[in-house]
Amino acid sequence: MPSHLKRCSQIVAGNAAVGVLALQGDVSEHISAFESAIQNLGLTIPVVPVRKAEQILDLMALAIPGGESTTIMRLIDKNGMRNIIQNFKGGIFATCAGMVVSARDLINETRFTPLDLLDITVNRNAFGRQRESFEADLQISGFDTPFHAIFIRAPVITRAGPDVTILAEIPQGIVAAKKGKKLILSFHPEISHDLRMHEYFLKDVLGQK
Ligand code: GLN
Repeated sequence: MPSHLKRCSQIVAGNAAVGVLALQGDVSEHISAFESAIQNLGLTIPVVPVRKAEQILDLMALAIPGGESTTIMRLIDKNGMRNIIQNFKGGIFATCAGMVVSARDLINETRFTPLDLLDITVNRNAFGRQRESFEADLQISGFDTPFHAIFIRAPVITRAGPDVTILAEIPQGIVAAKKGKKLILSFHPEISHDLRMHEYFLKDVLGQK
């Protein structure tokens, strides 16, 4: 059997790729982090950049990376992806700008309408100019040891609906939350060399927790 087919036989059944929305932002970092996390878990799942709406239909999970939320949202609409992402039943892994575009409501931002993937209100630039980037060791619900989180012009969740589980909070607001297979983070786990968030998400998507 050719080796690529052999690999396919170990792939999880169903819609088996993890996609990283590749319109703008830190796409390659997410692809590498997911590839490493998948390897750590002993799985064989392809990780693909997503540039076309129809690709989303074939995914088990979609990552929405950090970047510039106004740009990402404009390109989502330009590429006809809004309804497909809103109706997507697989996992959503949204970080930083991804948190902003996933929100139901935004504070102080009327230039675009976010995707309403879960019932949260997000303050887009919660830390102001003085504190554009910082790092913090976060206690995350379900993790044995703190997660070293890197925040870059980060948003926070200021309100979460009753069906949203809060995983981590700092004085400015909620910085990690989930609902079902949707994991939403203020910070950038793809650049901290700690793959636990990606692994946690993959286990959720695969129903292994
Ligand atoms: N604050 C930025 C925005 O709203 C997000 C920053 C980031 O993704 N690092 O677009």
